[in-house]
Amino acid sequence: MSAQVKETFFSGLQANLDQMREQGLYKPERVIASRQGAEVVGDDGRTRINLCANNYLGLSGDEATVRAAIAATEQYGYGLSSVRFICGTQTVHKQLEQAISSFLGMDDTILYAAAFDANGGVFEPLFDEHDAIISDALNHASIIDGIRLCKAARYRYLHNDMADLEVQLKAARAAGKRHIVVVTDGVFSMDGTIAQLDKICDLADAYGALVMIDECHASGFMGATGRGTHEHHGVMGRIDIITGTLGKALGGAMGGFTAARREVIEILRQKSRPYLFSNTLAPSIAGASLSVLQRLSKSTELRDRLHANTAFFRREIAALGFTIKPGTHPVVPVMLFDAPVAQKFAARMYELGVLVTGFFYPVVPMGQARVRVQLSAAHSQQQLERALAIFEQAGRELGLLPAKS
Ligand SMILES: *Cc1c(COP(=O)(O)O)cnc(C)c1O
Repeated sequence: MSAQVKETFFSGLQANLDQMREQGLYKPERVIASRQGAEVVGDDGRTRINLCANNYLGLSGDEATVRAAIAATEQYGYGLSSVRFICGTQTVHKQLEQAISSFLGMDDTILYAAAFDANGGVFEPLFDEHDAIISDALNHASIIDGIRLCKAARYRYLHNDMADLEVQLKAARAAGKRHIVVVTDGVFSMDGTIAQLDKICDLADAYGALVMIDECHASGFMGATGRGTHEHHGVMGRIDIITGTLGKALGGAMGGFTAARREVIEILRQKSRPYLFSNTLAPSIAGASLSVLQRLSKSTELRDRLHANTAFFRREIAALGFTIKPGTHPVVPVMLFDAPVAQKFAARMYELGVLVTGFFYPVVPMGQARVRVQLSAAHSQQQLERALAIFEQAGRELGLLPAKS
């Protein structure tokens, strides 16, 4: 009897998986047999142009990054077998925290194993039931989860809608909330939409609210010197809390951080659960991330190349007749609208030698299916031209572009 009851648990999971497959929501994993880069080798031995990594600055497989990781491993060892506060803090972790602070223009920084943990552990130590968190409706899952772990009152404003943000600020003030924090992704990764931080800061000032931004899709390349969305919008010094990742532009391994005023970071070190109860970032990651920040502080070359590649690709893909979401971010949504078309298109691109991912409902709104292109500083002009030619071929084959006359 009990064995049978137990078996229904597993068959229930299988039914769930079957349903995901039927609905086209099952996420297969493509296996890469090489380093991450502008081109990757698949487990079928074929090389493809990669247009779907968060490898904005091309540092993930970069030789200098790899060397820095090896050097840090040799100096500091493989790992710490400890959380930070027991015996897991090395010189390199302190140096990295300082480098992040100065790069972002913040007082101090605390490292986490991931940005997911930074967002998961930032709210609960800082805010309680007397406070309010006002969150953009399309904020990242880790922000949503972090807010759930905190007792503060929750308010949501319509995505990127400043009028609705003001409505929520008024509501939180009317409810007598003590501290209010407005939280937004600096850049939203599905559309490449850049949050209107200048307006958000003005509204926050008017209502005495704090501002927190998640800079996972911005740190290292947004703004004139790559500091992020706050630099892009001219509001450096007006943001109270920044969370970010070391797993995208800033090297691409893993690891996250929160940067803020000194008191905020000191409280997080004392109380933030993913920091207190999870292992120290590996020295290889700390050392390589440090070398990345030193490199980005010396030169904007990679950031400049990324934006040149982005402008080129945006212009040329539109000239081919594809519809893109307008903007300037290296996330370029190529709109195909129909979910099966987006799936077929991505599959055909893969056969033709380009790695792009299709996104459809419920990841994006119904009728907004797309392939999302992400540019990298590592892409050469030649690779982008080849990718565009393949876009054109797949587009014609699927009848998305008029046949060649
Ligand atoms: C990727 C991402 C995260 C998670 O970053 P990890 O370091 O991989 O955990 C958090 N927030 C946003 C907006 C992201 O895009």
